[in-house]
Amino acid sequence: MSVGDAFERLIAGRWIAGESIDDALEVATTLNINGITAMINYLGEDFKDKRKIDDAIDTYLKLMKKAKEKKARISISVKLTQLGLCINKETAEKNYSRIVAAARKLGIFVWIDMEEYLYIGDTILIYESEVKKNGAGICIQSYPKRSMSDVKRIIKGKGIIRLVKGAYSASSGIAYPTRAESTDNYSRIMDYLFRNSKRFMLATHDEKMISKALALQKKSKADVSFAMLKGIRNRRAIELAEERQHVSIYVPFGSEWIAYTYRRMREFSNLKLVLRSLR
Ligand SMILES: Cc1cc2nc3c(=O)[nH]c(=O)nc-3n(C[C@H](O)[C@H](O)[C@H](O)COP(=O)(O)OP(=O)(O)OC[C@H]3O[C@@H](n4cnc5c(N)ncnc54)[C@H](O)[C@@H]3O)c2cc1C
Repeated sequence: MSVGDAFERLIAGRWIAGESIDDALEVATTLNINGITAMINYLGEDFKDKRKIDDAIDTYLKLMKKAKEKKARISISVKLTQLGLCINKETAEKNYSRIVAAARKLGIFVWIDMEEYLYIGDTILIYESEVKKNGAGICIQSYPKRSMSDVKRIIKGKGIIRLVKGAYSASSGIAYPTRAESTDNYSRIMDYLFRNSKRFMLATHDEKMISKALALQKKSKADVSFAMLKGIRNRRAIELAEERQHVSIYVPFGSEWIAYTYRRMREFSNLKLVLRSLR
């Protein structure tokens, strides 16, 4: 193994629970003790192979059953390109509905991760087909210029939003090109959510956004929750939970860790930030 590979594995180990369902549930149980809900994701994306898609569905079904047996407090967060969106919308919709129906029986909340710009439209349509029947949530990123209007439409349809800045990029015609502009849009969407949504999640490690949310929350009746990624600013997440905030930590597990780890490394290309997150 090269030094580069070893470094990636070290970083990945901090950000990912492990390969198995038991690894994910062990992390979940520890988070639960700290008053935090684990938002579990089975790693994998861009699947076209039916066997891999079926394995992902099966893994989510087993995970949820086992979590219930262990009384672990979890939600799950699925990627539609793992459930067939790269084949067609119908396949992803059918598989997503199956997972949501099983989760509903077990009382487990299902989020949809938001992926590349190309998939945003179909992801929202698939979400909307389910949200009327079953409570479920969807991630919206602040970097695309379309997001404010997506948020308005989803809130009108009584959807539940998890707001993030976005781990992907797109051309400047359709997306805010800098982190600063994307953060400004995050702030605008947050204002809108506080005014118009009864329940939403703010997923960020940005202290400015967290402080702003805590200030807005004082004048709001909305059910607001905070979320961070496993291994990043988790001490702050524990502090928020101690202050009786609703807090979740996103816990990925599985063997397909490379794409996820690369997105995190790209984001934290400033080495100091990566090293700080290891503490
Ligand atoms: C729960 C959750 C779910 C997510 N789901 C999705 C999804 O479905 N789709 C998607 O595209 N993206 C998703 N993301 C990723 C997200 O889009 C961002 O890429 C990621 O959260 C980084 O953005 P940020 O808001 O933390 O702000 P950034 O602008 O990256 O960071 C802002 C500030 O936060 C602080 N900070 C950040 N990282 C560290 C660190 N390691 N140590 C110390 N301080 C730090 C620093 O002060 C930094 O300046 C998710 C993120 C979370 C937390």
